[in-house]
Amino acid sequence: PAEMFYDDDADLSVIQGRTVAVIGYGSQGHAHALSLRDSGVDVRVGLRPGSKSAAKAEAEGLRVLSVADAAAEADLIMILAPDQHQRTIYANEIAPNLQEGDALFFAHGFNIRFGYIQPPAGVDVCMVAPKGPGHLVRREYAEGRGVPVIVAVEKDESGEAWPLALSYAKAIGGLRAGGIKTTFTEETETDLFGEQAVLCGGASALVQAGFEILTEAGYQPEVAYFECLHELKLIVDLMYEGGIAKQRWSVSDTAEYGDYVSGPRVIDDHVKENMKAVLADVQSGAFAKRFIDDQDAGAPEFKELRAKAEQHPIEATGHQLRGLMAWVKSHDDDYVEGTAA
Ligand code: NDP
Ligand code: MG
Ligand code: MG
Repeated sequence: PAEMFYDDDADLSVIQGRTVAVIGYGSQGHAHALSLRDSGVDVRVGLRPGSKSAAKAEAEGLRVLSVADAAAEADLIMILAPDQHQRTIYANEIAPNLQEGDALFFAHGFNIRFGYIQPPAGVDVCMVAPKGPGHLVRREYAEGRGVPVIVAVEKDESGEAWPLALSYAKAIGGLRAGGIKTTFTEETETDLFGEQAVLCGGASALVQAGFEILTEAGYQPEVAYFECLHELKLIVDLMYEGGIAKQRWSVSDTAEYGDYVSGPRVIDDHVKENMKAVLADVQSGAFAKRFIDDQDAGAPEFKELRAKAEQHPIEATGHQLRGLMAWVKSHDDDYVEGTAA
């Protein structure tokens, strides 16, 4: 079984004795910086010149410095800028400011696993990766709870990397929910596979296909939206609470029987073969290379795919319907309908 860690397994004073720089103040960055500060940690935020995030961090009373200055002051640097920019930020501003005894932290293993960042000897390399979006990580911490984290040590140069990583995980509330021990390789490959095949890619494509089938068959888009998208949350909430078994317990016998006979018709051996091919591209680095090559060229493929996806008819139907549902409130984050950045 996986090795698990909880609050009692970590000593907060370890991270309280360090000087921490959080690079980036986005989804994860704001959550880590604020919760570290609230846990009594000496934290500063590193951002690029003219950063839109600086005002938000300063409004919370955090010190904002350039990435290079933050990295120079700190002896623990958590890199929470987007994965595709980390390599350049590291090479230009962090690497020149690393000293023996410093620690480099990540919330995702991408750049280490695929070799885009190669830290020098004498520097600990650790990961504390919350298994949830940053805005939830912060909300849970503030309410005295936490989002589960996975923790890994790639390089334990000091011999003290594990107590340090666990102390960091505790400071952002992760060990209230539980930490799972993993490796950079396992985290990176399972994270990319999960988001591509199941959580983001698989779920989005399944919802869109269901909506297309119903509307092409002449059913009203509003009804198709409720059946294929809106209700998905209610089903997933039940799965989250009690597994697929609880979902099947709660739905009608009609729905449960339909689940058994039709689920495997939709997700058949052919689909599983496709999922295996996705995993193979993750493991070989082919996906990473395609993503980074496109990003380095100014992200033409990414921008085209994003623009096309926004035009799917389910978005217009949903936008209209959500406007009529006063209880579907947006949370306290920066997302604005119809302006996906
Ligand atoms: P975001 O896209 O939210 O990060 C944006 C932040 O990075 C902004 O503050 C932005 O500042 C800053 N930034 C962007 N480019 C640069 C740059 N060149 N130099 C300095 N700062 C820059 O990132 P996420 O929080 O989504 O992801 C951060 C890490 O966490 C990634 O490794 C990701 O895989 C991992 N992760 C993310 C999760 C999530 O919930 N999103 C979940 C678990 C892990 P500016 O205002 O200047 O644009
Ligand atoms: Mg991910
Ligand atoms: Mg129904």
